[in-house]
Amino acid sequence: MKSHAKVVVIGGGVVGCSVLFHLARHGWTDVVLLERDELTSGSTWHAAGGMHTINGDPNVAKLQKYTISLYKEIEELSGQATGVHLTGGVLLAATEARLDWLRGVVSKGRYLGIDLEVISAKEAAELMPLIDPSKFVGAVRNKEDGHLDPSGVTHAYAKAARKLGAEVERFTKVEDIVRRPDGLWRVITNKGDVIAEHVVNAGGLWAREVGRMVGLELPVLAMEHMYLITEDMPEVADWNKKTGTEIIHAVDFDGELYLRQERGGMLMGTYEKANKVWSEFQTPWNFGHELLEPDIDRIAPSLEVGFRHFPAFQKTGIKQIINGPFTFAPDGNPLVGPVRGLPGFWVACGVMAGFSQGGGVGLALSNWMIEGDPGADIWAMDVARYGDWATMAYTNAKVRENYSRRFSIRFPNEELPAGRPLKTTPLYDTLAARGAQWGVSYGLEVPLWYAPDGVRDEFSWRRSTDFEHVAKEVAAVRNGVGLSEISNFAKYKVTGDGAAGWLDRIFACKLPKRGRMTLAPMLKDDGRLIGDFTLANVDAEWFVAGSGIAEQYHMRWFEAHLPKDGSVRIEALGQKLTGLAIAGPKAREVLAKVTRADVSNKAFPFMAVARMDIGMAPCLVGRVSYTGDLGYEIWVAPEYQRAAYQALLAAGEEFGIGLFGSRALNALRLEKNYGSWAREYRPIYGPVEAGLDRFVAYGKDTDFIGKEAALAERREGGTLRLRAFIVDAVDADVIGDEAIWHDGVVRGWVTSGGYAHNSKKSVAMGYVPKEIADRPDGFEIEILGQRHAARIQAAPLFDANFERMRG
Ligand SMILES: Cc1cc2nc3c(=O)[nH]c(=O)nc-3n(C[C@H](O)[C@H](O)[C@H](O)COP(=O)(O)OP(=O)(O)OC[C@H]3O[C@@H](n4cnc5c(N)ncnc54)[C@H](O)[C@@H]3O)c2cc1C
Repeated sequence: MKSHAKVVVIGGGVVGCSVLFHLARHGWTDVVLLERDELTSGSTWHAAGGMHTINGDPNVAKLQKYTISLYKEIEELSGQATGVHLTGGVLLAATEARLDWLRGVVSKGRYLGIDLEVISAKEAAELMPLIDPSKFVGAVRNKEDGHLDPSGVTHAYAKAARKLGAEVERFTKVEDIVRRPDGLWRVITNKGDVIAEHVVNAGGLWAREVGRMVGLELPVLAMEHMYLITEDMPEVADWNKKTGTEIIHAVDFDGELYLRQERGGMLMGTYEKANKVWSEFQTPWNFGHELLEPDIDRIAPSLEVGFRHFPAFQKTGIKQIINGPFTFAPDGNPLVGPVRGLPGFWVACGVMAGFSQGGGVGLALSNWMIEGDPGADIWAMDVARYGDWATMAYTNAKVRENYSRRFSIRFPNEELPAGRPLKTTPLYDTLAARGAQWGVSYGLEVPLWYAPDGVRDEFSWRRSTDFEHVAKEVAAVRNGVGLSEISNFAKYKVTGDGAAGWLDRIFACKLPKRGRMTLAPMLKDDGRLIGDFTLANVDAEWFVAGSGIAEQYHMRWFEAHLPKDGSVRIEALGQKLTGLAIAGPKAREVLAKVTRADVSNKAFPFMAVARMDIGMAPCLVGRVSYTGDLGYEIWVAPEYQRAAYQALLAAGEEFGIGLFGSRALNALRLEKNYGSWAREYRPIYGPVEAGLDRFVAYGKDTDFIGKEAALAERREGGTLRLRAFIVDAVDADVIGDEAIWHDGVVRGWVTSGGYAHNSKKSVAMGYVPKEIADRPDGFEIEILGQRHAARIQAAPLFDANFERMRG
């Protein structure tokens, strides 16, 4: 075994082998994979081997499509058969709500290049003969589904990697990992040490244990999972004979089942409700090529549905039940990327669908390690979407919930209950008593809307029970004044002698003068966005507010770019600082009543920032509002938050102050064409494309990160444009990820939208190619499978001249 390597990959499951292959293919050949046993000694060997292109997140779906397209290449390169059968499949809907969901999937598939088609239940039964069509209302056909040989694929990755110069060391167990003073990693194994620049944790079932070697508690947990294999079935033999083809895949969402042909019989797996965690706290190192005891009682309810939906199963015997463990992150998506605070330590774990996602994970990670960027939008699987709040107990609750809901519908207005409430602010009980309906953002409870007694969200794809109440919250803001809690923003304090210089380099904007704020786009080296913030110059320090869900993501970036001399310090304030916002034409009058500071438009204009007391509470107040109205954001230590809230509410009483939640905020920002991070602003868009170029100081002397590429984007114009559309919607608005059509062809995708109650318009924001971005007509946006006429709304629907906001 070599004693030094550029990269050590820990784990010879499908994911580790894919990472190794991709690193070697990308040109890093001084790489070694360490496997404690034979390859595939974790969850890989007993997988059902199914592969699918669809995923809730379109960017993950793209990587799944890539994974499936890769198998031919690795088979050819390695000479190792992968056993790929691209049978195609049907996704079955037993309810109208499920069919609506599937229509959304088809819409996404249109711009992802995934060939999906809505078909009737009868047509589905013609394609997959075991279906009882009377149990379904429709289906979607996917030509890119299939199955493969898990061991063959893993060995093909490994052999192909070896051919390219990578090494694989079997029976080499990593026992500890130590960071040396020179920054290199000492990987300690039962066969000696390897010194490496980079370590990849692809430990699968042992990813937690490998993480613990470097002091990391990763939010992953293994669940038991069962599938059965039947005896040979005459229906299968008949079909094979009659058509010369295999029986295609089927996913029966409402039965929570997946099916495929396995030799002369069928394989049926289920994500049962009464699920079971495996090795809750510690995965045993002596677990290897063994299976767990099957428990047919646990899966019996799902099987009963299966036997009804696929009657041929009633007449056949079960040959074998496989029960094996595999790991999940709390939301079911992989954990990939560099770990904040551990330079050179990477993770590729929590991959629950290794045969659909393993290739994409390997590609993204190798790009990231070699090029400094994953090369795709992989937010949905970035390890940085979790912070320290994702504790072991939280992970346990969420993974169990996610497993049991693997095939369940999640409606756009549906909030999932497990692991909550976790983080709350001091106002939690107060706002709950006012009817707050809670959502969750980065573990924090956030008011979505305020419900009168007896009214709750009715889960739906269409406008629902909250509609009229959110409308009232919006009206309170636009007609008088509204108050909302905004503690879910990420807040950062930047101090030190080098702070101004550093901020000038890390942000693409011009730095604001003392007492002023500015919008601050942050770019990567390739000139694309990696953040959008509000940057405030407050006395001797800098205050930065940004997307709450991206706190860890942004801290990873900030810290990686801090000067080594300690001249700049940055702290993520988390809930050490809470927030309130007031907005609406009466907001200034409310503020003036509770502070002695001069808040007149002259003394405290738009984008001013100052410390001032609100009632008795010391606060930091900025004159800015995401509602696009006259408004203020108020930052306050949690111990004072109640006092500030009460003072504002009392002062607002005479103006009819109302509480508003994040759904009303969404309705308000949409009529101002304001985008938000992780929706409109993502790391695949440049500032010109996203319409944030007006905040980029292209001419400033400082060589801010991404300047050269940003100048090139400005010169060449990029390829896309973010646009707001008014949609002729009827009773359902866009959610996000719908297809945008132009002249009968799919040309773009929706990033977010909703109903702008004040303007009484259904709004969608999304990206289209720049060539058509200013066309007056021809656009349609697909909602629940129906195309609706849409028009570009260039000027904001509300306060286009900024008179309210700046006045
Ligand atoms: C019953 C069942 C059915 C499934 N069906 C499907 C399916 O149809 N389709 C699909 O896509 N997925 C399926 N899966 C999931 C799939 O198996 C996983 O997504 C995949 O195996 C994850 O691979 P991995 O490489 O991350 O982890 P693992 O396969 O667990 O590999 C980790 C490897 O790391 C090694 N290792 C760990 N720690 C160390 C150390 N300290 N030193 C050296 N080596 C170490 C282990 O020995 C192991 O070989 C199924 C899983 C189960 C259990």
